[in-house]
Amino acid sequence: MVSAVDVAPAAGEARSPVDDRLAAAVEQAIRDVPDPEIPVLTLDDLGIVREVRVDADSGTVDVTLTPTYSGCPATEVIAGDVARAITRHGLRPRVVTRLAPPWTTDWMSERGRIRLREFGIAPPAPGVATRGSRVQGLSLSVRQVACPRCGSESTEQIARFGSTPCKALRRCLDCREPFDEFKPL
Ligand SMILES: [Zn+2]
Repeated sequence: MVSAVDVAPAAGEARSPVDDRLAAAVEQAIRDVPDPEIPVLTLDDLGIVREVRVDADSGTVDVTLTPTYSGCPATEVIAGDVARAITRHGLRPRVVTRLAPPWTTDWMSERGRIRLREFGIAPPAPGVATRGSRVQGLSLSVRQVACPRCGSESTEQIARFGSTPCKALRRCLDCREPFDEFKPL
């Protein structure tokens, strides 16, 4: 399944030749787009920007996004935000969504994990993704999820889905606070 967002630049906008500085600036603007559900995270933190290609002659910017999971309702919003970041630079966006290979929480940046914890959401531990390589003998049922508030590892899942389908709702057995966990994928 491929969906494309194609927004033409504003009428009358001069299409100047794309130099390296403009290409770098537009790529940074794309990577800095905030996640609509967790605004402390950028698309770069999430690791969902798979490719940015700037065509200097046509002024077209091709962006490939892999959503955090295939049914994520935020994907359309993100594609629109990316397209606007490109048109703001006077360039023409072509945003496509690629589902394979599927996004994994292993693609999240270290900075993204730190920001997620500061935001009160337990980040997925690197390397525990259920797809791809998996530590032998480690199963999700015994996976330890630390409380983002007090750091205790005595936590239990109380609902498979938290505030969004990408998250599970857990509770800390020490400080008693419920919290969202970004589910490893
Ligand atoms: Zn706690």
